[in-house]
Amino acid sequence: MKKVAFYTLGCKVNQYETDSMKAIFTKNSFIVVDFNENADIYVINTCTVTAMGDKKSRQTINNAKKNNPNAIVVVTGCMAQDSKGKIEGADIIIGNNDRKNIVNIINKYNGEKLVEIDDIKNDRMFWSVEDNVPEDRTRAYIKIQDGCDRYCSYCIIPYVRGPVRSRKLEDIIMEVNEKVQNGFKEIVLIGIHLASYGKDLKNITLIDVLEKLDKIEGLQRIRLGSLEPLFINEENIERLKKMDKVCKHFHLSLQSGCTETLKRMNRRYTAEEYEERVNMIRKAFPYASITTDIIVGFPGETEEEFLKTYEYLKRIKLNRMHVFPYSIRKGTLAEKMPMQIEKNIKNERAKSLIELSLKNEIEFANKFINKEVDVLLEKGKKGKYRQGYTREYVKVLFEGGKAGEQFIGIGKNVTDEGELVVEKS
Ligand code: SF4
Repeated sequence: MKKVAFYTLGCKVNQYETDSMKAIFTKNSFIVVDFNENADIYVINTCTVTAMGDKKSRQTINNAKKNNPNAIVVVTGCMAQDSKGKIEGADIIIGNNDRKNIVNIINKYNGEKLVEIDDIKNDRMFWSVEDNVPEDRTRAYIKIQDGCDRYCSYCIIPYVRGPVRSRKLEDIIMEVNEKVQNGFKEIVLIGIHLASYGKDLKNITLIDVLEKLDKIEGLQRIRLGSLEPLFINEENIERLKKMDKVCKHFHLSLQSGCTETLKRMNRRYTAEEYEERVNMIRKAFPYASITTDIIVGFPGETEEEFLKTYEYLKRIKLNRMHVFPYSIRKGTLAEKMPMQIEKNIKNERAKSLIELSLKNEIEFANKFINKEVDVLLEKGKKGKYRQGYTREYVKVLFEGGKAGEQFIGIGKNVTDEGELVVEKS
């Protein structure tokens, strides 16, 4: 039997799609081996969201060739979709829409470079595979949506992922039931633009899906992937109040705390509107956690604009911020914008926000001292402690226990990295 190895870069959706491709190969009598082992085929599922994503993808292609110079190197994912068939070191290049046919395409390979990249903007089908077996055994990521039609001015994703496509509700319910039967306590709903779920279907939205999943027996936790802030409104808050299983952790992607910058980013909200949504959540769920993504050094971001963002974030205190120095992407509107910011200034701004994020994270975790928390332990360990997360996505440390174990704990103290040390209640 032939051996195939995988390497995944980028987001959770890409990881989910790698697990789907593994299921296809396994069904076709391939053995899935570790990427560092000698394999007959190496599949690299690439990312192109930043220049670093491209760089790491190319490095991984070279590593595959080093692992076995005679192997077939298959490059797929977003960098492949954007490549126009030109990637050094790749024997086969497969676009995002063609991954479902990956084994058939490889069977056609005769040593001549093979390129299968459809024009994704015409794609209307949602691709999913049964028996998708995730690597992580504690929480299962469930892809329910693909594509995006927002065209934020810095983002290449709509060009490589195509229009919004939503998965049929019955398929989602079937996969979640299957995961619960396989012992998963937590599922995470993911997509490229989750809040757009249902836009291409009639009479269904993301909140409808949550209500259906909230009724599934045996499921403990439903977590949401990255969300568009405008998903938070009075009606959705009222409906979320009635859902016990939905974790009150909202990753609301902000990108900047300055409305002028947001306008140039073509984001669909102002800093004030975002803050309103944050306050709506905190009024309904006082212990809710709100995390976010921030881009610093966006073209035209003056010192004054950055200070607006900094002061704004100091005031609204989001409890974890993923901070990214702006990365120019060929083919996006922002690529052509004047006043591109120097690298050292971007890094300085990123550093100050990362420090602020840690301060906020420690402050938020302290809210759970002497308070009961629902803990789900994971396979990660740190010294004598096992790691895990609360429903609010606070990182916890617990002495003992095993991965997948769930219990009610009490917060004891908080480390300098914002981890909550817990004991069983
Ligand atoms: S919402 Fe904006 S940043 Fe997010 S995937 Fe779509 S275009 Fe990119």
